[in-house]
Amino acid sequence: MADKAPLISLKNVTREYKTGERTVHAVDGVSLEIARHEFVAVSGPSGCGKSTLIHLLAGLEPPTAGEIFVDGLALHTADDAALTQYRRRHIGLVFQFFNLLPTMNVLENVSFPLLLQGVPSPESEARALELIDHVGLRERADHFVHQLSGGEQQRTAIARALVHRPSLLIADEPTGNLDSHSAAAVMELLEKIGADGLTTLIVVTHSDEVARAASRRVEMHDGKVVRDSSGR
Ligand code: ADP
Repeated sequence: MADKAPLISLKNVTREYKTGERTVHAVDGVSLEIARHEFVAVSGPSGCGKSTLIHLLAGLEPPTAGEIFVDGLALHTADDAALTQYRRRHIGLVFQFFNLLPTMNVLENVSFPLLLQGVPSPESEARALELIDHVGLRERADHFVHQLSGGEQQRTAIARALVHRPSLLIADEPTGNLDSHSAAAVMELLEKIGADGLTTLIVVTHSDEVARAASRRVEMHDGKVVRDSSGR
């Protein structure tokens, strides 16, 4: 039964920022449900609230009002310890600038989150190699970051974000810093991850091509969801 419930449920969520006299409604009364294994692209002009929305979903900041449930956890009432656990166990993050550790090779970068969780080295390496294989970098496992192309770095970052089997992978402009060829490869990989049902995917993007790869498109404007291809 639990699997039928949406993975993510936002109910009338608002996030305000006060700067001096001004109050910005970065996210303004958003209600949204996302099912398990959906691949959702979030787009909209700069400043429309995309980053704020994903920070809320990642448990990086609290809503000013409203309710956010992810995988049964009420993020709007969770304390710091619960949110830290939530981020470690449930969330995988991919950024525009990859954020890999330059002193580590691909295998070490990808296994790192598991080592932090105390998973023994042989087990974490085996799991990391599975993911490295999945992103097509088996031949590069012992390469250091500076020996990789931008696209390969981003594929490494995606493997790292998936290694702990998160229920939700959030990617913020994952192709924003890549040439068109590498961007296409990263897009294809995200599509494959979506199709394989490895995780639920939320990708923030300015790129129409990336948005087309998703199974659902959500568009924001001035903190509100103004279009949702699911019709929900
Ligand atoms: P996007 O990711 O779509 O570019 P953001 O979520 O970054 O949009 O920002 C939405 C609005 O909230 C913008 O007007 C932005 O200036 C404002 N904002 C975001 N973060 C903060 C903050 N920490 N303090 C004040 N205003 C912020």
